[in-house]
Amino acid sequence: MTRTMRALVLEGKGSLCLAEVPLPEPKEGEALVRVRACGVCGSDLPRIFGDTAYFYPLIPGHEFAGEVVATGSPKDEEWIGKGVVVYPLIPCGKCPYCRLGEYALCEDYGYLGSRQNGAFAEYVVVPVTNLLPLPQSLSFEEGALTEPAAVALHALRRVGRTFGEIAAVFGLGPLGLLAGMWLKLSGVRKLIGYDVDERKFSLARSMGFDVTLYPSFFPAEPEGIDLVVEASGSAQAFVDALKLVRKRGRVLLLGNQEKNVLLSPEDFSRILRKELTLFGSWNSSFAFLDSDWKKVLDFAGSGRVSFASLISHRIRLEEAPAFLLGMRERRIPYVKVVLIP
Ligand SMILES: [Zn+2]
Ligand SMILES: [Zn+2]
Repeated sequence: MTRTMRALVLEGKGSLCLAEVPLPEPKEGEALVRVRACGVCGSDLPRIFGDTAYFYPLIPGHEFAGEVVATGSPKDEEWIGKGVVVYPLIPCGKCPYCRLGEYALCEDYGYLGSRQNGAFAEYVVVPVTNLLPLPQSLSFEEGALTEPAAVALHALRRVGRTFGEIAAVFGLGPLGLLAGMWLKLSGVRKLIGYDVDERKFSLARSMGFDVTLYPSFFPAEPEGIDLVVEASGSAQAFVDALKLVRKRGRVLLLGNQEKNVLLSPEDFSRILRKELTLFGSWNSSFAFLDSDWKKVLDFAGSGRVSFASLISHRIRLEEAPAFLLGMRERRIPYVKVVLIP
């Protein structure tokens, strides 16, 4: 008799269904994790409702925390019963980037919730090497936010020192807010947040943003804005970032764009004339000596940062298909939505 579990299965474009599926079995080097909380990522929506899924049927979900209930081999049994967070990227371990520990740049990686089944389910199988213990002081929901917090931290580590600078963030969704949280912690002098939705302003201010503005409003900062973080995924925000940033300033690109980005000759010329530096950022580092994940868990576990206030909704698996459609169609105002299987 095979045991089963409940999971949200993406059966085709836009068709996410609650189903009873076989319980996956951990092989050597793997662990079976009971999912206790899984965040809905901005990237899950185009994966579910657009054309970015790698295959069907797929169980999405890559931002999660839970507890280990079984392991594939006895040598890993010490994990059983432990609360964990899970790095969703499964590196090949062989390519030049993996050998440097730069797993996020791997040439041939697996990914929980996109390239293999993820955690919109009661259980998920993961490599033991991708586990980190969840600090006792953090809830599973906070643990589920480790991934976006690590992605935001990784992005800011790309741009170097920001102490004493003036920074602006476009897009006050989870990644923009988390970027602001790390910027504040790193000692920026002034932090400006932009969003087209004014309902996000009070949360942003409670997380340390000094000023929150509608994007068309550019305050006259006499010294100029040193760093602009584009976390909205809007092409207009990218153009606005080029306008807003000071000469020789930095623009950090963190938001995925779903459509073509067109730059006018004038806007392109700003990159040249202002001698701007553009930074791309992707995923997060999990390397032993340089782990964004360990830093996030250290800071959050010791109470130096808190991101629990980002959670706007907790929903159950059976509510998810309709709820996620509402998110996609922007009928539901939300910040971070967490599934509780
Ligand atoms: Zn994500
Ligand atoms: Zn690799």
